[in-house]
Amino acid sequence: METVIENMRESISEEGIRRAGEILRQGGLVAFPTETVYGLGANALDPEASAKIYRAKGRPSDNPLIVHIAEWEAIGKITEELTPQAKLLSDAFWPGPLTMVLKKSDAVPYTTTGGLQTVAVRMPDNAIACALIRAGGGYVAAPSANTSGRPSPTTAQHVAEDMDGVIDMIIDGGPVSIGLESTIVDLTEEVPVILRPGFISQEMLGRVVGEVRMDRGLLSEDPSVRPKAPGMKYRHYAPKAPLFIVEGERQRVQEKINELTAEESLKGRKAGVIAAKETSGSYFHAVVRTIGSRDQELTIAQHLYAILREFDHLEVSVIYSESFETPQMGAAIMNRLMKAAGHQVIEV
Ligand code: AMP
Ligand code: MG
Repeated sequence: METVIENMRESISEEGIRRAGEILRQGGLVAFPTETVYGLGANALDPEASAKIYRAKGRPSDNPLIVHIAEWEAIGKITEELTPQAKLLSDAFWPGPLTMVLKKSDAVPYTTTGGLQTVAVRMPDNAIACALIRAGGGYVAAPSANTSGRPSPTTAQHVAEDMDGVIDMIIDGGPVSIGLESTIVDLTEEVPVILRPGFISQEMLGRVVGEVRMDRGLLSEDPSVRPKAPGMKYRHYAPKAPLFIVEGERQRVQEKINELTAEESLKGRKAGVIAAKETSGSYFHAVVRTIGSRDQELTIAQHLYAILREFDHLEVSVIYSESFETPQMGAAIMNRLMKAAGHQVIEV
């Protein structure tokens, strides 16, 4: 299959959106930018179309898709029961990086929900995404547009690395603004539960709906406690080289990383280092990538996946990363970094 690349970096092409919408209506696949990461879209109400997403990504069939809408009114058709919390949260955070899990209606096929009775819904804050959703019929199932297990794409080039020749179209809207997937909150129980941390923090949700819990499966080291979002149990975002997070007092972290990279270099191999701007000048014997500034946590989120992908091309034998406990997005950044590292942490 030839994958058409539509360039909309400078401005939205109405003709391009019309063609992309037509592909979705015909049951095809279109990758598109959102404010979080690039999504791989299909008509969410067409079981055969959403099944194509799983095949293109190599995604396990029990890992449900998020349904993207462009109008609040659209939510009625896909949910059985709209809770007052859903209204409050959507008023506060939509369009934006918040996904809500609600009881599904019969209109949503089980291929889209991975067999679950619930549906995950989000309204993205991106003009291209919203125009495409409208042109494609109003309901677009879209997981991140990467091959399963690889880092999520934050540029159209990342999408092409994984999906060229596999899907009908990629809309290039330039680099995304946030860089990490949406916060997922489950509203099917009395107290809302965060199933995946993201840009919208527990505290921000709490200010709108009162008590909000974190899914036990996210916090527990015990593998028998399963996360409630099926996708969170899989190893994600894994770079080819083993990745270790080095945690502890800042000066000691630097010394430890320098010691480890020196050992690697003595063995004739090249180590990679992921560091904040404030400390990236202090590493030697290594290929150093600056992820962003500790004072501007969004810059850290924006560059994480691109750096993990870049290290695959740089052929390093091992990667050491500083840890980034930033105020708002710290939980989300560390959740993704920990998953990429397969929870390998070196404490100093
Ligand atoms: P992605 O679109 O690649 O960010 O992945 C979607 C995430 O949403 C995965 O972790 C899914 O397991 C999760 N998800 C989607 N639908 C549901 C649902 N109905 N209940 C719980 N988690 C869901
Ligand atoms: Mg994903």
